[in-house]
Amino acid sequence: MEIKILKNIMGVNDQVAGKNRELLEKNKVFTINIMASPGAGKTSTVLQTIKALKPLRVGVIEGDISSTIDAETVAKVGVPVVQINTGGECHLDANMIQNALGNLPLDEMDVLMIENVGNLVCPADFKLGESLKALIASVPEGDDKPYKYPGMFTAVDVIILNKIDLLPYVKFSVEAFTQAVKGINSKAQIFPISCTTGEGVEAWGKWLKKRIKDTGK
Ligand code: MG
Ligand code: ZN
Repeated sequence: MEIKILKNIMGVNDQVAGKNRELLEKNKVFTINIMASPGAGKTSTVLQTIKALKPLRVGVIEGDISSTIDAETVAKVGVPVVQINTGGECHLDANMIQNALGNLPLDEMDVLMIENVGNLVCPADFKLGESLKALIASVPEGDDKPYKYPGMFTAVDVIILNKIDLLPYVKFSVEAFTQAVKGINSKAQIFPISCTTGEGVEAWGKWLKKRIKDTGK
Protein backbone atom coordinates (compact mmCIF):
# COMPACT_ATOMS: atom_id res chain seq x y z
CA MET A 1 0.00 0.00 0.00
CA GLU A 2 2.71 2.47 1.03
CA ILE A 3 4.68 1.62 -2.09
CA LYS A 4 1.65 2.14 -4.31
CA ILE A 5 1.05 5.63 -2.90
CA LEU A 6 4.68 6.56 -3.41
CA LYS A 7 4.53 5.36 -7.01
CA ASN A 8 1.46 7.52 -7.66
CA ILE A 9 3.22 10.59 -6.28
CA MET A 10 6.21 9.92 -8.52
CA GLY A 11 3.89 9.42 -11.50
CA VAL A 12 2.38 12.87 -10.97
CA ASN A 13 5.86 14.37 -10.49
CA ASP A 14 7.08 12.84 -13.75
CA GLN A 15 4.03 14.18 -15.64
CA VAL A 16 4.70 17.72 -14.42
CA ALA A 17 8.42 17.27 -15.18
CA GLY A 18 7.45 16.33 -18.73
CA LYS A 19 5.42 19.54 -19.06
CA ASN A 20 8.36 21.58 -17.71
CA ARG A 21 10.60 19.94 -20.27
CA GLU A 22 8.19 20.81 -23.09
CA LEU A 23 8.02 24.44 -22.01
CA LEU A 24 11.82 24.67 -21.70
CA GLU A 25 12.40 23.03 -25.08
CA LYS A 26 9.83 25.31 -26.71
CA ASN A 27 11.88 28.26 -25.42
CA LYS A 28 15.17 26.56 -26.38
CA VAL A 29 16.43 26.59 -22.81
CA PHE A 30 18.99 23.90 -21.86
CA THR A 31 18.40 22.99 -18.22
CA ILE A 32 20.88 21.61 -15.69
CA ASN A 33 19.78 20.08 -12.39
CA ILE A 34 22.71 20.60 -10.00
CA MET A 35 22.83 18.34 -6.99
CA ALA A 36 25.36 18.13 -4.15
CA SER A 37 25.69 17.83 -0.41
CA PRO A 38 25.61 21.06 1.63
CA GLY A 39 28.88 22.97 1.36
CA ALA A 40 30.20 21.30 -1.80
CA GLY A 41 30.22 24.66 -3.57
CA LYS A 42 27.02 24.65 -5.63
CA THR A 43 26.56 28.41 -5.70
CA SER A 44 30.26 29.08 -6.40
CA THR A 45 30.10 26.58 -9.26
CA VAL A 46 26.94 28.21 -10.63
CA LEU A 47 28.72 31.58 -10.64
CA GLN A 48 31.83 30.17 -12.34
CA THR A 49 29.68 28.37 -14.90
CA ILE A 50 27.71 31.53 -15.75
CA LYS A 51 31.04 33.19 -16.60
CA ALA A 52 32.34 30.17 -18.54
CA LEU A 53 29.17 29.91 -20.65
CA LYS A 54 29.29 33.49 -21.96
CA PRO A 55 27.89 34.70 -24.33
CA LEU A 56 25.07 32.24 -23.56
CA ARG A 57 22.40 33.82 -21.36
CA VAL A 58 21.85 31.96 -18.09
CA GLY A 59 18.97 32.06 -15.61
CA VAL A 60 19.03 30.42 -12.19
CA ILE A 61 16.61 28.72 -9.81
CA GLU A 62 17.95 28.54 -6.27
CA GLY A 63 16.49 25.82 -4.07
CA ASP A 64 16.96 26.19 -0.37
CA ILE A 65 15.24 24.94 2.76
CA SER A 66 14.74 28.48 4.07
CA SER A 67 17.32 31.21 3.35
CA THR A 68 17.69 33.56 0.35
CA ILE A 69 21.47 34.06 0.76
CA ASP A 70 22.46 32.12 -2.38
CA ALA A 71 19.80 33.79 -4.54
CA GLU A 72 21.04 37.22 -3.44
CA THR A 73 24.63 36.23 -4.33
CA VAL A 74 23.57 35.07 -7.80
CA ALA A 75 21.33 38.12 -8.41
CA LYS A 76 24.40 40.36 -7.87
CA VAL A 77 25.98 39.12 -11.13
CA GLY A 78 22.95 40.38 -13.02
CA VAL A 79 21.24 37.17 -14.15
CA PRO A 80 17.55 36.40 -13.62
CA VAL A 81 17.10 34.30 -10.50
CA VAL A 82 14.12 32.80 -8.70
CA GLN A 83 14.33 31.49 -5.17
CA ILE A 84 12.37 28.42 -4.11
CA ASN A 85 12.08 27.98 -0.38
CA THR A 86 11.01 24.41 0.16
CA GLY A 87 9.84 25.04 3.71
CA GLY A 88 11.90 22.22 5.17
CA GLU A 89 11.49 19.81 2.23
CA CYS A 90 14.86 18.21 1.43
CA HIS A 91 14.55 18.20 -2.38
CA LEU A 92 13.02 20.14 -5.27
CA ASP A 93 10.11 18.62 -7.18
CA ALA A 94 8.60 19.30 -10.60
CA ASN A 95 5.71 21.36 -9.20
CA MET A 96 8.08 23.78 -7.50
CA ILE A 97 9.96 24.19 -10.78
CA GLN A 98 6.73 24.71 -12.73
CA ASN A 99 5.87 27.64 -10.45
CA ALA A 100 9.37 29.08 -10.73
CA LEU A 101 9.40 28.86 -14.55
CA GLY A 102 6.45 31.25 -14.69
CA ASN A 103 8.66 33.85 -13.02
CA LEU A 104 11.65 33.61 -15.38
CA PRO A 105 12.15 35.33 -18.77
CA LEU A 106 12.54 32.01 -20.63
CA ASP A 107 12.52 33.66 -24.06
CA GLU A 108 15.60 35.65 -23.07
CA MET A 109 17.51 32.63 -21.70
CA ASP A 110 19.69 29.92 -23.31
CA VAL A 111 20.49 27.99 -20.16
CA LEU A 112 18.71 27.38 -16.84
CA MET A 113 20.77 26.23 -13.88
CA ILE A 114 18.74 24.73 -11.05
CA GLU A 115 20.57 24.56 -7.74
CA ASN A 116 18.86 21.75 -5.88
CA VAL A 117 18.66 21.47 -2.08
CA GLY A 118 21.92 20.23 -0.52
CA ASN A 119 21.26 16.50 -0.17
CA LEU A 120 22.72 13.39 -1.84
CA VAL A 121 19.69 11.14 -1.41
CA CYS A 122 16.18 12.06 -2.65
CA PRO A 123 16.93 14.83 -5.21
CA ALA A 124 18.14 11.99 -7.46
CA ASP A 125 14.60 10.54 -7.56
CA PHE A 126 12.70 13.68 -8.58
CA LYS A 127 12.74 14.61 -12.25
CA LEU A 128 12.38 18.35 -12.78
CA GLY A 129 12.30 18.54 -16.58
CA GLU A 130 16.07 18.97 -16.91
CA SER A 131 18.28 18.26 -19.94
CA LEU A 132 21.27 17.27 -17.79
CA LYS A 133 21.81 16.01 -14.25
CA ALA A 134 25.04 17.22 -12.66
CA LEU A 135 26.58 16.31 -9.33
CA ILE A 136 29.12 18.40 -7.48
CA ALA A 137 31.35 16.42 -5.17
CA SER A 138 34.15 18.13 -3.25
CA VAL A 139 37.58 17.08 -2.05
CA PRO A 140 36.96 17.55 1.72
CA GLU A 141 34.00 15.12 1.54
CA GLY A 142 36.38 12.22 0.85
CA ASP A 143 37.01 9.93 -2.11
CA ASP A 144 34.60 7.25 -0.84
CA LYS A 145 31.41 9.28 -1.50
CA PRO A 146 30.45 7.20 -4.59
CA TYR A 147 30.22 4.09 -2.39
CA LYS A 148 28.10 5.86 0.22
CA TYR A 149 25.62 7.44 -2.22
CA PRO A 150 25.46 5.06 -5.22
CA GLY A 151 21.91 6.17 -6.14
CA MET A 152 23.01 9.74 -6.72
CA PHE A 153 26.28 8.82 -8.45
CA THR A 154 24.41 6.46 -10.79
CA ALA A 155 21.67 8.98 -11.65
CA VAL A 156 23.88 11.79 -12.96
CA ASP A 157 25.29 12.54 -16.43
CA VAL A 158 28.33 14.49 -15.26
CA ILE A 159 30.33 14.94 -12.06
CA ILE A 160 32.21 18.05 -11.03
CA LEU A 161 34.91 17.47 -8.44
CA ASN A 162 35.26 20.83 -6.70
CA LYS A 163 37.88 22.26 -4.33
CA ILE A 164 40.89 20.55 -5.95
CA ASP A 165 43.00 23.42 -4.57
CA LEU A 166 42.68 21.57 -1.23
CA LEU A 167 44.23 18.32 -2.53
CA PRO A 168 47.66 19.01 -0.93
CA TYR A 169 46.03 19.34 2.51
CA VAL A 170 43.39 16.59 2.50
CA LYS A 171 43.64 12.82 2.25
CA PHE A 172 41.88 12.40 -1.10
CA SER A 173 42.90 10.29 -4.07
CA VAL A 174 41.52 11.52 -7.40
CA GLU A 175 42.46 8.12 -8.82
CA ALA A 176 40.46 6.24 -6.14
CA PHE A 177 37.50 8.60 -6.61
CA THR A 178 37.58 8.13 -10.39
CA GLN A 179 37.74 4.35 -10.03
CA ALA A 180 34.81 4.36 -7.61
CA VAL A 181 32.72 6.45 -10.03
CA LYS A 182 33.63 4.30 -13.05
CA GLY A 183 32.57 1.20 -11.10
CA ILE A 184 28.97 2.38 -10.78
CA ASN A 185 28.56 4.91 -13.61
CA SER A 186 30.85 4.43 -16.59
CA LYS A 187 29.17 7.13 -18.72
CA ALA A 188 29.60 10.07 -16.34
CA GLN A 189 32.52 12.35 -17.14
CA ILE A 190 34.41 13.87 -14.21
CA PHE A 191 35.63 17.46 -14.25
CA PRO A 192 38.06 18.39 -11.44
CA ILE A 193 37.77 22.11 -10.75
CA SER A 194 38.53 24.77 -8.17
CA CYS A 195 36.09 27.65 -7.87
CA THR A 196 38.73 29.44 -5.77
CA THR A 197 41.61 29.36 -8.28
CA GLY A 198 39.50 28.83 -11.41
CA GLU A 199 41.49 25.71 -12.35
CA GLY A 200 39.53 23.31 -14.57
CA VAL A 201 36.59 25.67 -15.03
CA GLU A 202 37.44 26.32 -18.67
CA ALA A 203 37.43 22.60 -19.53
CA TRP A 204 34.08 22.12 -17.79
CA GLY A 205 32.60 25.16 -19.55
CA LYS A 206 33.89 23.99 -22.92
CA TRP A 207 32.35 20.53 -22.49
CA LEU A 208 29.04 22.01 -21.35
CA LYS A 209 28.91 24.47 -24.26
CA LYS A 210 29.45 21.59 -26.70
CA ARG A 211 26.75 19.54 -25.00
CA ILE A 212 24.32 22.48 -25.23
CA LYS A 213 25.20 23.02 -28.90
CA ASP A 214 24.79 19.31 -29.68
CA THR A 215 21.24 19.36 -28.32
CA GLY A 216 20.31 21.91 -30.94
CA LYS A 217 20.99 25.39 -29.58
MG1 MG B 1 24.28 27.26 -2.44
ZN1 ZN C 1 13.83 14.91 -0.02
